[in-house]
Amino acid sequence: MISIITILFIAFSSNSIIINSTNTSQADNNNNNNNNNNFTMSCNISIIACLNDIPHPEKKEDHKIQTDLILEQVSSTRLKEYIDTLSSFHTRHTKSHHIEKAANWLKSEFENICKGIVFFHNYTQSDQNQTFHLKNIICSKQGLASSSQSNYNNNNNTIVIGAHYDSRSKNINNTDARAPGADDNASGVSALLELSRILSHLNLKYNLQFVLFSGEEQGQWGSKNYSRYLNNSNLNSTIDLYINLDMVGYSSPNESNKVILEYDVGNKYLQNDEYSKTIALFIKQTASSYTNLEAILSKLGNSDFIPFEALGHAVIGIHDGGSENNPHYHKSSDTPDTLNIKYLTSITKMVLATILELDKLSHY
Ligand SMILES: [Zn+2]
Repeated sequence: MISIITILFIAFSSNSIIINSTNTSQADNNNNNNNNNNFTMSCNISIIACLNDIPHPEKKEDHKIQTDLILEQVSSTRLKEYIDTLSSFHTRHTKSHHIEKAANWLKSEFENICKGIVFFHNYTQSDQNQTFHLKNIICSKQGLASSSQSNYNNNNNTIVIGAHYDSRSKNINNTDARAPGADDNASGVSALLELSRILSHLNLKYNLQFVLFSGEEQGQWGSKNYSRYLNNSNLNSTIDLYINLDMVGYSSPNESNKVILEYDVGNKYLQNDEYSKTIALFIKQTASSYTNLEAILSKLGNSDFIPFEALGHAVIGIHDGGSENNPHYHKSSDTPDTLNIKYLTSITKMVLATILELDKLSHY
C-alpha cells in the first residue's frame, strides 16, 4: 500500500523549493476539489514546505551557514580509512566466509560512531540448493517527531539510506577470487558510515535508518529481505524516502564533477514516480548550492532500491556512472587507489545537505 506522496506541486523560486503533496487516499477523495484545498490540507503531510513558510532572506542565509558548518564535519580521511579497511578483506562475496567478518566489522564501527540502535537483521537465503545465513546491519536513529513528547502525529517520517557491502569478481560463482570492491561498493558504505556518524548526533525531526545490505550482487537479497521485514513489522508505512548509494567514488578524469541521480519511472508502482523525480530535482539543486557537483538525472537502473520501489516507496539512486564509467567494475583492480576521495567527499556532502534540507522543510 502506498502511504506517501502522489500529488505534487513544485515551484522553484530563486533558491527556494516548494514541495506540496498528499497521499493516495486523500488524493482520491479530493480529486474534485481545487488545488488550493489540496495544498492547505497536505501541509501536514510528509516532506512539504507551504507557501507561507518560505524562509526570510536573512534566515535563509543563517540556515545556509549552519548547513555549511555541518558539511565541514565530513572527513575525507575517515572516508578513505573506511574504504581501505573494507577493500582489505580478500573478498566480500556473499557466499564466502569473509562476508561474516565484514558484517562484524561494520556492526562494531556503527557501535563506535552511530548514535542510535545498532542491530543485525539476520536472514536466510536459499540459492542453488544451498542455504546461506546472512546479515544486514542497521543503525536506527529516532527523530523528534517520533518521541513521546512530540506534538507531531504523522507516521510517514523515516528516511532510509542504504548501501550494499558485498562485492564480487567477474565470475559471480567464484567465491574465492580477490574482489576488493573499492568503488563497488566500499565507496557507498563509507559515505553511509560518515553520514551516520554526523547525522545521528543531530536533533532532527526525521527518523533515519542507515542500512548496509549483503547479497546485492546475487539479486538484491539483503534489501529484498529487509524491505519484507519492514513490511511484516508494520514499519513499512513510515518510510518517506529511500536513498541508495552504490558506486560513488570513481570519477572519470574529464568529468570529475558529474554525479548521476536515478529516479523512478514506471517499475512496479506509478504513483511514486512524480515524488521521486521531485526529490531528484531537489537533490540536483542542493548539489549546486552546497558542492561543485553537477547532477545528471537518469532513470533507475538495478540496485537495492528495486525492492523498496516494489513496496510503493519513493526511491532515489546515487552513483558515479557505475558499470559504464568504471573500467575496474567487478574486477580485482577495483582498488582504493583508483578512487577520487575528493569526489566521494562531495557526494557525501550532497546527501548530507539533502537530508538536512528535507528535515528543515518537513512539517512533522
Ligand atoms: Zn554495486
